[in-house]
Amino acid sequence: MKLADLYARPGLTLSVEFFPPKTDKGEENLFREIEIIKRLKPAFCSVTYGAGGSTREKTVDLVDRIHRECGLEVMCHLTVVGQSKDDARAVLKKLKKKGIQNLLALGGDPPQGMTDWKPHADGFHYAVELVREAKTLGGFSIAVAGFPEVHPRAESRSSDLKFLKEKVDAGAVAVITQLFFDNADFYRFAEDLRNLGVTVPIVPGILPVLSAPQVRRFTTLCCSKIPPRLESALAKVENNDDAAVEVGIEYATEQCEDLIKSGVPGIHFYSLNKSHSLQAICKNLGL
Ligand code: FAD
Repeated sequence: MKLADLYARPGLTLSVEFFPPKTDKGEENLFREIEIIKRLKPAFCSVTYGAGGSTREKTVDLVDRIHRECGLEVMCHLTVVGQSKDDARAVLKKLKKKGIQNLLALGGDPPQGMTDWKPHADGFHYAVELVREAKTLGGFSIAVAGFPEVHPRAESRSSDLKFLKEKVDAGAVAVITQLFFDNADFYRFAEDLRNLGVTVPIVPGILPVLSAPQVRRFTTLCCSKIPPRLESALAKVENNDDAAVEVGIEYATEQCEDLIKSGVPGIHFYSLNKSHSLQAICKNLGL
């Protein structure tokens, strides 16, 4: 089923993001976690493309395997960074051939070892071009990324919102956000987009914290804030990941409760390939 149809169904649309594991053992672990996550009845899952240095080649194969073996709808992330237009087109064609209908069209993080974001000499510069390319090829339901705390490379908040609207005008059917820990940032972002005339679902991306040092690394990379209340909880579990997981479950439960009350169309969980926190959060939320 296509994203547009999934978000059109009544109720909350849950989605879960995975990254391609580097080893065969990691992949088998992931498939065990997926079996557990399936019991939470997510509407779809997604697989990252080259994020944090993960292998790009594995993404399409993993998407295909989940699609064939797990009975789960799947959305493939695809980025413009580090590949030519022809390479990106080849991936789109491969996905289409394999019957993958859902795409998250992205600019992409700089590959490992590259500090600055530079477009490929023969590549697309912005995600909007990938949205247009996928629309031209046809058959895809396309989501795009949004940044409640403003994308780190954006010239300004207003230009960032304007370029996000351009992606929706080019044919994106949903906006999925970067992780954030202060819901006020999400509400302001969603309101500003609505005021610009964006009507597609705006879906919050939620990261259940698994470790204090890890979340500090992530938030530094994507320039998201850690609010004082979360920061003081993390300070108490600096060297204790089991306790950090519990902090993460409690914090994400509260975040989701508030978001659901406000009427969000769905929640996109950054699972980091782990089921435990998601199970606990969904149980707390009565989902
Ligand atoms: P774009 O829309 O291209 O925007 C990038 C920057 O350029 C923004 O600052 C924007 O304001 C600006 N801009 C856009 N259009 C124009 C224009 N026409 N002229 C001038 N400036 C413009 N990264 C990965 O590598 N792999 C993944 O799998 C991945 N998954 C993600 C999933 C989600 C849900 C999210 C929120 C992010 C994900 N990312 C991933 C990170 C993302 O790719 C990076 O943050 C990237 O730098 C921005 O992507 P974008 O799609 O918003 O890019």
